[in-house]
Amino acid sequence: MALTVREAIPTGLAGATACYIGYDLADHGVGVAVIVSTVLAILSTGLSVGLRFQQAANDVQLFTCPEGCGVEIRTTNQPSDSVARLRELATDHSQHPAARS
Ligand SMILES: [Zn+2]
Repeated sequence: MALTVREAIPTGLAGATACYIGYDLADHGVGVAVIVSTVLAILSTGLSVGLRFQQAANDVQLFTCPEGCGVEIRTTNQPSDSVARLRELATDHSQHPAARS
């Protein structure tokens, strides 16, 4: 998965923040496990925010099965007729493999 510019900016900011906080925590004698956990949490947040920016910019829609069988369909910049067809497929549980077994 390649990062786009919209994902890279918040990820880069999170990386810089994580480095600064990690360095500052190490300077105050905080344990390595706490520093690693904190840095990973900040990086994870940055990636999550970047993904949300990407989704907002690309008209991403996510359709999930209302029965909770785990079927999900994500569309990106699709024509409305395709989106309607994919929404129908995702929300019709009778068409999912879990409903056939
Ligand atoms: Zn289903």
